[in-house]
Amino acid sequence: MRTPLLAGNWKMYKTPQETQAFFDAFLPLVAGAAGRDAAICPPYIDLAVALAAAAGSNVGIGAQNLAAGKEGAMTGEISGHMLKTIGCKYVLVGHSERRQFFGENEAGVLSKTQAALEYGLTPIVCVGELLAQRESGSTEAVLKQQFDGGMAPLSAEQFAKIVIAYEPVWAIGTGKVATPEQAAEAHAYIRGLVAEKFGNAQALAIRILYGGSVKPDNVAGLMSKGDIDGALVGGASLDPKSFAAIVNF
Ligand code: PEP
Repeated sequence: MRTPLLAGNWKMYKTPQETQAFFDAFLPLVAGAAGRDAAICPPYIDLAVALAAAAGSNVGIGAQNLAAGKEGAMTGEISGHMLKTIGCKYVLVGHSERRQFFGENEAGVLSKTQAALEYGLTPIVCVGELLAQRESGSTEAVLKQQFDGGMAPLSAEQFAKIVIAYEPVWAIGTGKVATPEQAAEAHAYIRGLVAEKFGNAQALAIRILYGGSVKPDNVAGLMSKGDIDGALVGGASLDPKSFAAIVNF
């Protein structure tokens, strides 16, 4: 019922030339992937090359961030309107690196999510706890706070169009993947929050991706859990063979 989504987050890696080389190798490897959605979120400067390379393929393209608002005196920023105009389908919102290094908070996540929706993009809204928060037993409280501040104020109609990514911060780029059981437990908790706020039908329909050191050799175990609807993949999405193996899990 929920189509899995396998999305790559390239972070601050790859030039336009390297982007072209990636797609040349990657697209033939996933051309037969059915029953799933695939996406790549490259840096802004690679979007044009990625969009041209992926045109007509089964791979959607997204950005890693957006500014709230359509246009304006906002030096260095890119709007959802601009991203939609060039053909982007997705945008990441509230990635832990944005929260950690660029001071993004729940209010910002909410306004960026609303901006993405206003311009017709699918926001992939990221939540997740720090290691210290997991160790002190506050994982659920953190997820609730992020959900309440960043997503619960959306209308039901808006909420139906988002994707959530659960990314425990201690598992991002560390090689420490959450066990399928740990991930599934957090996903079930988030789905419960959705049910409370938006009802059972929305809880059943929302896609919740897992992110944090997903690799070709652990993706199948994660995807075997009913509440895990896909993956947001950093490091392993940079290599065409490795990300193709994840898409073709
Ligand atoms: C990410 O950047 O969202 C991520 C999950 O990174 P990695 O797969 O490298 O842990």
